Amino acid sequence: MTNRSWAERDLRVLWHPCTQMRDHADFPPIPIRRGQGVWLEDFDGRRYLDAISSWWVNLFGHANPRINAAVGVQLAQLEHVLLAGFTHEPAVRLSERLLALAPPGLTRAFYADSGSAAVEIALKMSFHYWQNRGRKNRTRFICLSNSYHGETLGALAVGDVALYKQTYAPLLLKPITVGSPDCYRRAPGASCAEHAGRMFAEMEAALSRRAEETCAVIIEPLVQCAGGMRMYDPVYLSLLRAACDKYQVHLIADEIAVGFGRTGTLFACEQAGITPDILCLGKGLSGGYLPLSACLVGDDLYQAFYADYTAQKAFLHSHSYTGNPLACAAANATLDIFRDDDVLTRNRALAAHMGKAAASLADHPHVAEVRQQGMIVAIEMAKNKATREPYPWQERRGLRVHRHALEQGVLLRPLGDVVYFMPPYVITPEEIDLMARVAEQGIIHATK
Ligand code: PMP
Repeated sequence: MTNRSWAERDLRVLWHPCTQMRDHADFPPIPIRRGQGVWLEDFDGRRYLDAISSWWVNLFGHANPRINAAVGVQLAQLEHVLLAGFTHEPAVRLSERLLALAPPGLTRAFYADSGSAAVEIALKMSFHYWQNRGRKNRTRFICLSNSYHGETLGALAVGDVALYKQTYAPLLLKPITVGSPDCYRRAPGASCAEHAGRMFAEMEAALSRRAEETCAVIIEPLVQCAGGMRMYDPVYLSLLRAACDKYQVHLIADEIAVGFGRTGTLFACEQAGITPDILCLGKGLSGGYLPLSACLVGDDLYQAFYADYTAQKAFLHSHSYTGNPLACAAANATLDIFRDDDVLTRNRALAAHMGKAAASLADHPHVAEVRQQGMIVAIEMAKNKATREPYPWQERRGLRVHRHALEQGVLLRPLGDVVYFMPPYVITPEEIDLMARVAEQGIIHATK
């Protein structure tokens, strides 16, 4: 079988995610035969460096021998059992380990199967907590402009990326949206910390006026990933934690994209020394192997639901595959690698290399900014470098980078005009150089 034959069969029967299928009339999807480390290989034998970790999920490479082995062992024991009324070793061990690694004060793990589902759970748990505590007026959520929390209706509602949200607006909860501390938008001469401090005034005002109707503030700590890898200073998180305490509103940290070492620390919240009331995890949680997500919560939250059954306080949310044993086994193997390989230290050297490899791009006449947070590097293209005026979106400059890079054997998938690197942690310095070289050529090609 060749690329062409699989693509033809695909296009007769599949409907792909996040895709205008008409685009595939000219550029068919690429059938992947196998993966190995950072490399994907198609049916014609061409290889692609997975510079975006297959939508930010893969941490230790495709077909990682240790995760493969762990999933294999689990597969021979138990593939799945419902997690209501039953439990299993992988889920118990994973919960113990996640709670030991997470910021202090988180004591319970509730599982689901996608990031969006974890966000739905966080929103429902927070709302339900206030119901159980007799604060029935609390029905609203505060979120940041340019945020992203997933595609299901609740998660979409607390996001702010128009491309995904606008069409469905009539169906959605109405959050209170306050300005993002996104450092790209700072005033000339301001530091990211100053900008974050200034932007926090809006959050403080919203909390002081609306706390009595608000369940929670939900944020992506440090990096608004789907919003274009926009980054902000950790001081915003410290201020937010203090304000949520002051106004007695939950803080939900969505670390689905930034958790597990992406920002340089195991969890991004660590960089501000804060513990959220609910920590949402997903994506890299299973090493990029199987769908798994979790909400970690503290005792106060848990206790608000703990009562005699007839008090009707239980959290009755469920998904069929909640806490799937194979996914939990992959997650345990992923945590083993973090423990055994001193990953965060090694990543510091890789991150430094990525920063250096991308630095010269800042001089390009259509690159407005090169920014980095740990193992994420983003290169923002703009029509006008000085004013940061963007290209008209209809020109799809990012897509040109994507197609050019594929021809050169690198999978880049820009978010609009933001080209970014978010590779698996097993990438080598030489592969980083290749990735950066191809990105540079792609940007030159796309901005001609
Ligand atoms: N939250 C954040 C911060 C994300 O980046 C994503 C996925 N890009 C989600 C939630 C949703 O996760 P999933 O795609 O697994 O539903």
